[in-house]
Amino acid sequence: MVTRLVLVLGDQLSLGLSALAQADKADDVIVMAEVADEAAYVPHHPKKIALILSAMRKFAARLESEGWTVAYTRLDHPDNAGSIPGELLRRAAEVGASEVLVTTPGEWRLINVLSDCPLQVQFLADDRFVATRADFEGWAEGRKQLRMEFFYREMRRKTGLMMEGDKPAGGKWNYDAENRKSPPKDLRPPEPPKFEPDAITSEVLELVEARFSGNFGRLRPFWFATDAEQAEAALDHFIDHALPNFGDYQDAMLSGQRFLFHAVISPCLNIGLLDPLTVCQRVQAAWKAGHVPINAAEGFIRQIIGWREFVRGIYFLEGPDYVNRNALGHDRALPALYWGGETRMNCLSEAVEQTRDEAYAHHIQRLMVTGNFALLAGIDPHQVHEWYLAVYADAFEWVEAPNTVGMSQFADGGVVGSKPYVSSGAYINRMSDYCKSCAYSVTAKTGEGACPFNLLYWHFLERHRDRFKDNPRMGNMYRTWDRMDDGKRATIVKEAQIFLDRMSDGALV
Ligand SMILES: Cc1cc2nc3c(=O)[nH]c(=O)nc-3n(C[C@H](O)[C@H](O)[C@H](O)COP(=O)(O)OP(=O)(O)OC[C@H]3O[C@@H](n4cnc5c(N)ncnc54)[C@H](O)[C@@H]3O)c2cc1C
Ligand code: SF4
Repeated sequence: MVTRLVLVLGDQLSLGLSALAQADKADDVIVMAEVADEAAYVPHHPKKIALILSAMRKFAARLESEGWTVAYTRLDHPDNAGSIPGELLRRAAEVGASEVLVTTPGEWRLINVLSDCPLQVQFLADDRFVATRADFEGWAEGRKQLRMEFFYREMRRKTGLMMEGDKPAGGKWNYDAENRKSPPKDLRPPEPPKFEPDAITSEVLELVEARFSGNFGRLRPFWFATDAEQAEAALDHFIDHALPNFGDYQDAMLSGQRFLFHAVISPCLNIGLLDPLTVCQRVQAAWKAGHVPINAAEGFIRQIIGWREFVRGIYFLEGPDYVNRNALGHDRALPALYWGGETRMNCLSEAVEQTRDEAYAHHIQRLMVTGNFALLAGIDPHQVHEWYLAVYADAFEWVEAPNTVGMSQFADGGVVGSKPYVSSGAYINRMSDYCKSCAYSVTAKTGEGACPFNLLYWHFLERHRDRFKDNPRMGNMYRTWDRMDDGKRATIVKEAQIFLDRMSDGALV
């Protein structure tokens, strides 16, 4: 047999990976490489780099223990070629191979780099998802609008999850009306399990400390799950302790409660340590056993077989140029507060501080605090995209870009969402306790100390009136704005502009 190389990337750490299923243990050589190109295309959070390197090293050891030949290159190895194609060429010369098997990467950048590599690269479908790319394309074809809710129903039918025959369990597809309660003051969510670094992780932490301490983000304490067994333990803990309240407080934000009832499993799912379908089956079983209410189980499963699959479909459908879209023509530079610069806005300060410490923020912090502010302030969506890609441990382009460029910044002009996710301070006040400790007043609409979200919300609507005034889901917003007297509207627009100018000049805002 001719020896082939089997490339396994840092987010492909699944024993059932299609490239491994097609490979021959006796003859093929697995290539895994920690390369500078991948560690530096955006300034990744040190915790994200540590997670991936530690999980890669453990996965390589597991493969070797199962009899595979693994050619593994560490980041600090003197012969490290610094890029994935460079490493493939080096290994190909070493073992006399010219063919490479790879499960298609989840990023256009890497697909293109591998397509240009002067070896015979065979791409295999990534079957760690419920929908294939062809399934999604077939579903999308001929539809005027792509809406997650309808795609999600297809995925329910396809998987049989939460189904009673051909009907949705309990009679409804979606139980969101029972979710999203405001958080009571004395809410005491469980902490996610924290894993002590073992010998492999400790060695990686030292390497990351030496090489990436200049990147935004705290490396220690480091407690992420870094292998499949730990990821399973984290999932068990979530199902037992947090899932029952997941739906109710899905949108809540509380100072000092960074994880609430969220699963904190996206890093494990996205690098392949957990299988999404198995996760959903476990959640369904907990509901069937009477351990969790239907709104929690359905709401959670919708995030995975609905949103997660939907955004992946969009990413591949829309093509490599998706990350450069800027439908609203926003061009303001990302302010320093996103990198930990001082701000008087407590909601942003809480979300960014938690991001720096944990490489994690939950969905509503990403969407309605950091994302909402960037959209209202007219920040360049590409800079926003690069920020999200860098700072979260779960950030891989196929999932990050549609969430940021599409859902959060409306830079795709409405492919992911039918209207922009914008709100004034009132929403943040309803869903969090942030406003109580803020230098600004959430009830003040104008004048000294008025919450910037209140000013920028109307400024955004006014700036984009032509685009959004006829959007049926935004009619109420424009009617409220138009009912205000001219003087008040002029004051709001003027004060919002002053705020934006001061922010861009680097003043403390
Ligand atoms: C601007 C922005 C950027 C985002 N970037 C990423 C990213 O880079 N990587 C990422 O995995 N998620 C991203 N999300 C989606 C979501 O915020 C995270 O998946 C979630 O916060 C992960 O935490 P969790 O595991 O505790 O999730 P939970 O709230 O417990 O949800 C369970 C699981 O559902 C899935 N999920 C939930 N919402 C989404 C969604 N909108 N898209 C895809 N999957 C979803 C995740 O796999 C998650 O682990 C982003 C959202 C926004 C608004
Ligand atoms: S008052 Fe405004 S800026 Fe302050 S925490 Fe509330 S929403 Fe954020």
